[in-house]
Amino acid sequence: MQDLVPDRRELFRYIEDVVRETLGTYGYREIGLPVIESTHLFQRLVGEATDIVEKEMYTFDDRSGDSITLRPEGTAGCARAALGAGMVFNQVQRLWYSGPMFRYERPQKGRYRQFEQIGVECYGMPGPDVDCELLLMLSRVWKALGIDSMVKLELNSIGSTEARGQFKDALVGYLRGFERELDADSQRRLTTNPMRILDSKDERTQAILVDAPSLEDYLDDASVAHFDAIRAVLDRAQVPYIVNRGIVRGLDYYNKTVFEWTTDALGAQGTVCGGGRYDGLIEELGGRPTPGVGFAMGLDRLAMLVETIGTQPEQAVADVYLESFGAAARGEAMILAESIRGREPALRLVVHCGDGKFKAQLKKADASGARVALILGEDEVARGEVGFKHLRRDLPQESVPAGDVVGKLMAALGAEAN
Ligand code: ATP
Ligand code: MG
Repeated sequence: MQDLVPDRRELFRYIEDVVRETLGTYGYREIGLPVIESTHLFQRLVGEATDIVEKEMYTFDDRSGDSITLRPEGTAGCARAALGAGMVFNQVQRLWYSGPMFRYERPQKGRYRQFEQIGVECYGMPGPDVDCELLLMLSRVWKALGIDSMVKLELNSIGSTEARGQFKDALVGYLRGFERELDADSQRRLTTNPMRILDSKDERTQAILVDAPSLEDYLDDASVAHFDAIRAVLDRAQVPYIVNRGIVRGLDYYNKTVFEWTTDALGAQGTVCGGGRYDGLIEELGGRPTPGVGFAMGLDRLAMLVETIGTQPEQAVADVYLESFGAAARGEAMILAESIRGREPALRLVVHCGDGKFKAQLKKADASGARVALILGEDEVARGEVGFKHLRRDLPQESVPAGDVVGKLMAALGAEAN
């Protein structure tokens, strides 16, 4: 787990702001969700035979002996919340959330045990149009972040549950013939989750898979039409993508569309966003059949990408830095600061706390990013004046009557902004 020092936290916030703004323009609304859910929810929706449920969850008993889990992903909790709030039946919802997710994984570059995601979940829209909307919206987000040339869209269709069932049978039938040559995980998955064998990193298993039946040949007509419709819109909108038949996504709840946005710039942890359609999810929770589609993007990896292009959010914490010299002036500075804040609530004003020689305080003022330093010494206090110094322009320091400070400040900052 990592601490987000202010530079990093601000970078995350910048990315969140860009994403939030874009989502807002598409009509998406934020939903707030708990970070703890009943363990059962993930076992049921994510699936017992997935990496997440098998080995990545932070699960423990609470004081009443109920098994709870720090959420490893947001889709299950969002579905639970939306169903519970009566938001899914016969309705259309476009929702997003952000926050920490927890997975007990091997920590490495781009992979943490607590990481941040922004997720989107849509309910009530069965057609390919909303799948397109998500992909076009993401494409716009990458542009807004300036990383569009560094990510590529990989797209696949995994068909209906029935089609996948038939494919699974064919796959298992084929792989049984090589059972003892498969890696241990894959042998186990033959009975638990055969689709996951396609994900195997084992070379021998991959070699065996070369001649295995292909999911593409088993896709149902509706899924093929759905997929073709998405591709047609992406082509017209000039959003580049590649069809990657190897993308199956680890989780049980997907059907039809699945996609990942990947990058070569981060080494092995190259997936920055993943998602797809999950039309059976709400029903699995006991609701009426409700189509759903969504994605989650990983902020930690996006932040690393944004860093590589050097776009840093503004680091300045202050517009104005208020220095003071001597005990009496220090008290006066607090009062002056409050009166300035009362008149200009949006102004970012940092007050120097404690002692400090003139030069030392000026250095702090400079480091804060402020454009003006206000200076209060015993003399200024006695005369009812404030020293006024431009930090980014070569102008002499002036003394102004305390009552004129706000007016002069705003004029000076406004003039500099233009
Ligand atoms: P990966 O292939 O990296 O294991 P995943 O398929 O498990 O990813 P998802 O469950 O689809 O990931 O989560 C969506 C996004 O969240 C990922 O694309 C990634 O950017 C991010 N993510 C997932 N796990 C982690 C992690 N442990 N640390 C940081 N980011 C993560
Ligand atoms: Mg993973």
